Amino acid sequence: MTPPLIDGKSFASGIRSRVASGVLALSARGITPGLAVVLVGEDPASAVYVRNKGVQTREVGMNSYEHKLEATTSQADLLALIARLNRDSDVHGILVQLPLPGHIDSDAVLNAIDPAKDVDGFHVINAGRLATGQKAMVPCTPLGCLMMLRDRLGDLSGLDALVIGRSNIVGKPMAQLLLAEGCTVTIAHSRSRNLPDLARRADILVAAVGRPEMVQGDWIKPGATVIDVGINRIERDGKPRLVGDVDFAAAAAVAGAITPVPGGVGPMTIACLLANTLTACCRANGLPEPE
Ligand code: NDP
Repeated sequence: MTPPLIDGKSFASGIRSRVASGVLALSARGITPGLAVVLVGEDPASAVYVRNKGVQTREVGMNSYEHKLEATTSQADLLALIARLNRDSDVHGILVQLPLPGHIDSDAVLNAIDPAKDVDGFHVINAGRLATGQKAMVPCTPLGCLMMLRDRLGDLSGLDALVIGRSNIVGKPMAQLLLAEGCTVTIAHSRSRNLPDLARRADILVAAVGRPEMVQGDWIKPGATVIDVGINRIERDGKPRLVGDVDFAAAAAVAGAITPVPGGVGPMTIACLLANTLTACCRANGLPEPE
């Protein structure tokens, strides 16, 4: 029997509707939230993400400012653009699409963004605030995962959570969020031993690895909630397919609930980006934050 699917697509659509209502309410005060997205180079996947972000930003009624720079752009020029966007009062959120070309120091660029406009939540100040329980901009993908977990499970306090992956953009902030919810959190990575045994103890399993279908069905604790962040492009039976980090069919036979790929975590990421931009705009204008 298939367990309840966690439908990220419809969840994300609900978030976008709430953001659109918030944007409408701001328009009565003559305020329009603005999101600037900076793309350096021609990476095809990044170009698709940036295009989708622009479309969805406009759909909820916000202004979208897209800056497409040559792959050869110098770090100094990129930093100068970010300084300009930091000063621009029409811009409430700034996102620099990763990965950046190799000659650019990503940390230097991300840390040049005004933390109040850092809607991706990658600035070291926001990472530090999240880790110390202060009001932060929270990275969009883990924020989306947390929303779905809360919706499915309610109070997460006391649950055993395993996060597989320790990147700054997914694994680490995910672990911080779950810790703040009162979970007992284990973070696994490429050096972890006995990963299947760690997984079998987890009431919540978040996979953010980037290895197609690595998490097997017999790793899943019966009834566990499985959040699959992975997006892997593979070929099967001669056809291109998108799969997650979890063997979906096998895990679905054991889990209490599971996110599909596609249609799970993916759609939540941009929805949370828009929610963060609305929050940033409200904070910048001294207005109450949306729920
Ligand atoms: P990274 O490559 O930055 O991190 C991957 C993590 O997985 C690392 O911590 C790595 O460990 C760990 N890892 C690698 N191999 C193993 C293994 N065999 N066993 C256990 N851990 C392992 O990836 P990201 O965090 O950026 O992304 C993870 C996945 O999520 C990717 O598929 C990406 O496409 C997807 N993603 C999806 C998003 C969405 O919107 N749905 C948004 C962002 C990412 P170590 O640190 O030791 O190297």
